Amino acid sequence: MIEKNKFETVICNLCGKDDYNVICKSHSKYSRDIFNVVQCKNCGLIYINPRLNTQKSIEGYKEDKKTIEYYNHLWNKRVNEGTFLIKKYLLKNNTGKDLAFLDVGAGTGAMMYSAKKLGFTTIRGFELNTLAAEHGNNRHPYGKISNIDICNSKQVSKVNERFDVILCHHTLEHVYDPDSAIKNMKFLLKERGLLCISVPNTDFFIMQMIKFFRLDSKGVFDPSAHIFHFTSKILDLFLKKHKLKIIVSGPLFKTKGHLNTFSQIFNNKQKKIFLPITCSIITVAQKNTVNNLTKRS
Ligand SMILES: [Zn+2]
Repeated sequence: MIEKNKFETVICNLCGKDDYNVICKSHSKYSRDIFNVVQCKNCGLIYINPRLNTQKSIEGYKEDKKTIEYYNHLWNKRVNEGTFLIKKYLLKNNTGKDLAFLDVGAGTGAMMYSAKKLGFTTIRGFELNTLAAEHGNNRHPYGKISNIDICNSKQVSKVNERFDVILCHHTLEHVYDPDSAIKNMKFLLKERGLLCISVPNTDFFIMQMIKFFRLDSKGVFDPSAHIFHFTSKILDLFLKKHKLKIIVSGPLFKTKGHLNTFSQIFNNKQKKIFLPITCSIITVAQKNTVNNLTKRS
């Protein structure tokens, strides 16, 4: 029996068109549901359509009791990743002053801890999972984690602080409206502030490998959780749409954790296959309203 209102159909989040090709089917890891992985014919964005109902998904994230366990398990890895990202991409022009940091999709606060160690003075996190946020606030009280939905402009408009750096690490592929999420993160940036987004890499080659090895049946796309799939080009288009100045864009090397994202696909038969690809991409963009205005005049 089909559960009423379990699914919803959506238009392209990047260009607003409703014209797509179905690339493949993908099984959910968590249920018997099968989803369409589709690609917009106009702009190339890859997304799940139809997908799980947004409201139900949000409730699912809020109440998921396994999340704390998951984030605790990943704590050290996330601290290392956060330290790496902040040092390499986000501190260059920002030393020697009071700095404000926001982690979107903060979990229990591991990357906030990295920011603390690296000298940020104001540290905040947004996390939909109420239990993870509460756990983080109790255990690691160096910055507050709030249950703010980054796609919800009404909630975001009530935040009074503005940030020098906003980190959104492996979160954008989960949110139901990346376009609003980016708009809202830009709103929260200070003038010349930096937005750093990293997501799994879903370039054409990976898609072809997945199709060739029929890996979709193993839930590679995680279609009930990863509802958008990005390439560098697509991620940059999102940021340019919001007039953010792109400073860094491309594959994300170095951190071990990222490289596991897709190598796990090939571990089903205890085989590890080296792939000459990177599994994460990163874009760092700057809010630069003053320069935009100067150019126009
Ligand atoms: Zn599109």
